[in-house]
Amino acid sequence: MKPNITITPVCGWLQGAKRPLIIAGPCSAESETQILNTAKSISAIDANIIFRAGIWKPRTRPNSFEGIGSIGLQWMKKVKEETGMLTSTEVANAHHVEECLKAGIDILWIGARTTVNPFSVQEIADAIKGVDIPVFVKNPVTPDMQLWIGALERINQAGITKIAAIHRGFHSHMSTPFRNDPKWEMAIELRTLCPDLPIICDPSHICGNTDLIPYISQKALDMDMHGLMIETHCMPQIALSDAKQQLTPAQLSDLIKKLVVRKSNSQNPDFKNKLEELRESINKTDEDLLQILMNRMIVAEKIGVYKKENNVTILQTNRWEDLLNERLSNAAMLGLSQEFVRALYILIHEESIRKQNEIMN
Ligand code: PEP
Ligand code: MN
Repeated sequence: MKPNITITPVCGWLQGAKRPLIIAGPCSAESETQILNTAKSISAIDANIIFRAGIWKPRTRPNSFEGIGSIGLQWMKKVKEETGMLTSTEVANAHHVEECLKAGIDILWIGARTTVNPFSVQEIADAIKGVDIPVFVKNPVTPDMQLWIGALERINQAGITKIAAIHRGFHSHMSTPFRNDPKWEMAIELRTLCPDLPIICDPSHICGNTDLIPYISQKALDMDMHGLMIETHCMPQIALSDAKQQLTPAQLSDLIKKLVVRKSNSQNPDFKNKLEELRESINKTDEDLLQILMNRMIVAEKIGVYKKENNVTILQTNRWEDLLNERLSNAAMLGLSQEFVRALYILIHEESIRKQNEIMN
């Protein structure tokens, strides 16, 4: 079912809103000095940056630093007074919401471990009802689009229209260079389902280390994401959580300077003509591609009939392994990614088997 989310555009609630919207600050609030030093250095880069800091931290194992708690909200208040930056933090239950509202936090976000739990999201939604505050919803830890949309809808149904999604990557059993697999296709699908919903990328939690952050940040902008949330700490080496992935304010400044902000469209007629031409060429290629796939299925069906006549099984494991290896080595020669061609052939093979099954039964 298509989501039905009413959205107030960011420019309708954020003064001086520009793209990319940047949210920066430490993973966790640790001390008043750490918060104020970090915030002052960040606001010196650009006073429009929104300050973030986790007050309550959802840690995987107990007995690690689980956040400074409500006292940190007083430090956030000081950040606002002394720098004028808007402040944001993560809420995971009704108590957190109440404390944040009392302390004048400007923006709330729901963390990845909370988005997975509709009870918690509903509790937050009920606590926010009737309050005019922006809320950002991080993707759930697992790549479940319905949970992500469900959380956005619950918050929206509580009357919150100043709403955005945060793409922070997904847990994966596959080994990837990232702490959380970006799975860009999930962000693309969300964009397709809710075209007006701003999506902010969180390269810090995707990468898990500082090396890959510039690459993911640029990629997010190239995918037309609305902004970036980047963990920044005045002394990352002694951070009490996520030490490996936090930038210094100087590194953040450097990253922002190097970002290439592209237009999501261009009115230049030459650009439009060339784009039209290339799109036409894609349309034609896709037509050919579908025709070729249909031809392939016709051959698969003929093979199905032949197998039936000779009473042999549909699945011939050796043939499938040989075929896949051969296609993968062809793909390598053509410069196509192995991952892509493998996934494509698994789909094609499944469809051929399905067709042959129809013939057998
Ligand atoms: C965070 O932003 O510090 C955090 C805990 O993120 P996530 O919910 O994405 O893990
Ligand atoms: Mn963190």
